[in-house]
This record gives sequence, C-alpha cells and structure tokens, in this order.
Amino acid sequence: MTEVLSDTTLIETLGAGHRGRLIGADHADYDSARQLFNAMIDKRPRLIARCHDVADVIAAVKAGREAGIDLAVRGGGHNGPGLGSLDDGLVIDLTEFRGVIVDPEQRVAHVLGGTLLGEVDHAIQPFGLAAPFGIISTTGVGGLTLGGGVGNLTRTLGLTIDNLVEADVVLADGSFVTANETKNDDLLWALRGGGGNFGVVTRFAFRLSPIPTVVAGPTLWSLDRGAEILSWYRDFIRDAPDELNGWLGFLTVPPAPPFPEHLQLQKVAGVLWCWAGDPADADEALAPVRALEPELDGIQPMPVGALNAAFDPIYPAGDQWYWRSDLVTEIPDEAVAANLEFAQALPTWKCTSHLYPISGAAARVGSADTAWPARDGGWVQVIVGVDPDPANRELVTDWAVSFWEALHPYAAGGGYVNMIMEEGGDRVRTIYGPNYDRLAEIKGKYDPDNVFHVNQNIKPA
Ligand SMILES: Cc1cc2nc3c(=O)[nH]c(=O)nc-3n(C[C@H](O)[C@H](O)[C@H](O)COP(=O)(O)OP(=O)(O)OC[C@H]3O[C@@H](n4cnc5c(N)ncnc54)[C@H](O)[C@@H]3O)c2cc1C
Repeated sequence: MTEVLSDTTLIETLGAGHRGRLIGADHADYDSARQLFNAMIDKRPRLIARCHDVADVIAAVKAGREAGIDLAVRGGGHNGPGLGSLDDGLVIDLTEFRGVIVDPEQRVAHVLGGTLLGEVDHAIQPFGLAAPFGIISTTGVGGLTLGGGVGNLTRTLGLTIDNLVEADVVLADGSFVTANETKNDDLLWALRGGGGNFGVVTRFAFRLSPIPTVVAGPTLWSLDRGAEILSWYRDFIRDAPDELNGWLGFLTVPPAPPFPEHLQLQKVAGVLWCWAGDPADADEALAPVRALEPELDGIQPMPVGALNAAFDPIYPAGDQWYWRSDLVTEIPDEAVAANLEFAQALPTWKCTSHLYPISGAAARVGSADTAWPARDGGWVQVIVGVDPDPANRELVTDWAVSFWEALHPYAAGGGYVNMIMEEGGDRVRTIYGPNYDRLAEIKGKYDPDNVFHVNQNIKPA
C-alpha cells in the first residue's frame, strides 16, 4: 500500500471520477450520514463516498487503495457490530444506490447493491411473485444476502442465498465481474454466505417464485405455557410441510394497538406463522396450532411485503442493540428450561429471543453447495438485547450474554455471521466450518491483500 494521502487529496482524487456526494467530517450532513442502525456503535469515518453507480464504486475502491486507507462497504447499515462503517477510513456508501427491476417472464429481480428489503417486496408484489428475505423491511439486501438470509419464507423457498442466481461485483483491484453458475462460479459460491469479503456487489439477481398472498400472523400464549409451547414447536415445525413457516419467539407484547390492552406488556411465547401454500389449505395446516388455544390469533391473508414490514414500527433505527446467536439442532428439555428462565427475565420490552427454522427447502441444499454449511434442519437461535435508552446498554447486553452462555452448551457449533457481534476470527472460522478453507482460497484469488476486511473476515489463503 502507498503512503496515506491527506483527506483533501483523497477528495480531489475521488472528486474527478465520482458522481455521488463526498461527505467528510466538516460536512453539514456528516453526523447523520455516519449514523448506523445500532446506536450502540459510533464510528467516525474519514470520508463517506455516496455512490450512485458502478463507476462511483470503482472510483472509490481505487481511490481508497491509492490513499492506503481502510475501506468499509455500507448497504442498509443494519449490521449488529456496525461493519458497514469504520473509524478513520473510507466508507463506500450504497445508501443512494438503490433500485429494483423485475423481469416477470424470467421470474428474476435485479436489485442494486444498496436496496432495502421492503423495496424489493414492493417491486415484486404486483407480479404475484416473492423471494425470501428477512423480517424487518428496512434491512439492507446487501448484508442480509451476503451473510445468508433467513426469514418468513425460509422453509418454503430456502435461504436468500439459495435464490441468488447472479451478482455483479467490483473487486479489490477495481475491476468489474459478473458471477453466475457459468461465469466465475467460485465467486458466486462464496457470495452465497461468505459476507462482504469478496468485493462490492453492485447488482444482485434473485429467482422469484409465485406466491401472491400468504396466510400469516402471530399466535401468542402466556409465558406460563412457554415450556409446553417450545417443546411442542420443536417437534412440530421440523416435519411440517415446506409451505408452513413459523419462527418462535419469547417476547413482551408491545404496548400499542393492534395488540389488545390486556396483553400489552405481558411476557409471552409466540410464533409468527406464514403459510405460503394455497390459502384454501391454510386452516388445515394451522389446525394443530389452534388446537393449542392461543390467547391471541392474528393469522390472516396478506401480501408477503406486509408481513415483512409488520415489525418495522417496533424496531426503528437508533435503538441500542446487542445480540448473540448459535445454531441449534436439538432443543433438549434442559435447554427448554434455560430458555424459560431468561424469557421470564426479559429486561426491557424490546428484548427478545428468536428461533428461526433452517428446515424444509433450506435443509435440502447440500452443506457444501453454498458457503453456508448448516443444513441439518435445525434453527438459528438469536438473543437480542434492545432498548432505546443508552442508559440500558449494559442491562440488555448482560442479559443477552448470560442467556447465550446458558444455552451455548446445547448448541450445535457454528452460527450465523449476520447475527453475531465482533467475536473474533476463530468464531468466524467455526461458523463456516468445513467451508472455511475453500472460502479462504477464493478470498486469496479475488482479494489477496484483504482489502475488504471490515466484515466477518475470512483471511486470504
Ligand atoms: C432490525 C434487524 C432485523 C434483522 N432481521 C434479519 C432477518 O430477518 N434475517 C436475517 O437473515 N438477518 C436479519 N438481520 C441481520 C442482518 O442480516 C445483518 O445485520 C446484515 O449485516 C444487515 O445488512 P445491511 O446491508 O443492512 O448492513 P450493513 O451494516 O450496511 O452491512 C453489513 C455487512 O455487509 C456488507 N455489505 C452490505 N452491502 C454490501 C454490498 N452490496 N456489497 C458488499 N458488501 C456489502 C458490509 O460491508 C458489512 O460487512 C436483521 C438486522 C436488524 C438490525
């Protein structure tokens, strides 16, 4: 790397080839531009380059390398440990590089690198088509997809990466490539779960599936029945038909409508269901759930996009977030008991723990077919400490860490890169398990100098 140039020189170098705004520390928008979704993280980049097209991205990668400074790539900015930004380096910011083009005949959506999940749902919904994304619509397609992507359609359509058919990537040397099954297929394999390690993805192409409407919503039970519900759920969901999605959570009922007043601020066990088959068959599929007589049954027909945006008002940007996760393939009775102990101790009402099933279609992909190895039909379990008040930072963090420590002995090993904090290289290696060495080789081919290292980093072989 060459010596570090002054900021002015960096702006001059970039300014010549860059269409989007360049926001340095003295810019009026600097503080809003550097803000991340997780208010626990406060980073001060040297320069934020708002990219508008592929040419801007190429210019930014080249200028950053020439200046010898570190680069971060920002998509939706939702990353838990804030890996879409960095201190004292250049942020390649994709927040104004958003858009979706739908090809209904080929059933493919072409999605620009900084697009948010809800924007894709909005664009594909009128065609009666769907792709599996996450449960909050303001999350970035970029980070979510590159890490794997779990959500309300995982059991029906697989992980988000299982539906990624092509990507355009600006590599570490500033060159531009397309990766698909026939061209740079090793890169496509790595992008399917390997995170932002391989370059800046400027376009994702997703396979779409015909799902015009889902029958979806929550069922809630009082926490007194939490152990019974978790034990039932663990056996039920694994063998449920692919069309039936349902993730379980321990949560506090939000203190606002549409939740009935008598349930507000009560701690409960809940499952968010999503039947993605023929709506006429939903009642039959959900009969075993209703046989358990939930206190609230909010299941109803809706577009997928409405389901994926249902929690947006509860989790706006600017809260404190700390999370831990593990992969779970069995939930023995001792783990059920530990779950209940920490659910009873939810420290503030936004704190929660979720079990996202990686079964159905997601478990029929081979563990070496994509970079994401965990295809054993279990769950990602995530424990999330959240609160708007910075004074509660330690409270929610301590609860999440203690909960995770209590459950970790029952975990299957591995984890999900998108739902951890910065937990060290060994943790990343464990998560990728048998796929790590191949990822490191591909990293060595496409980014031998580890230019893209502000992420859950895979070291080049
Ligand atoms: C409220 C909330 C809800 C969530 N729900 C889900 C969920 O339902 N399912 C799920 O799987 N995950 C979920 N997540 C986790 C989410 O997948 C990760 O936080 C992810 O990192 C967010 O991606 P982003 O683009 O918004 O974040 P950013 O912070 O912008 O980026 C995250 C990482 O991805 C890299 N990156 C982003 N875009 C690109 C790109 N175009 N090219 C190259 N690298 C890129 C960044 O460099 C960084 O390393 C959720 C997170 C939050 C905060």
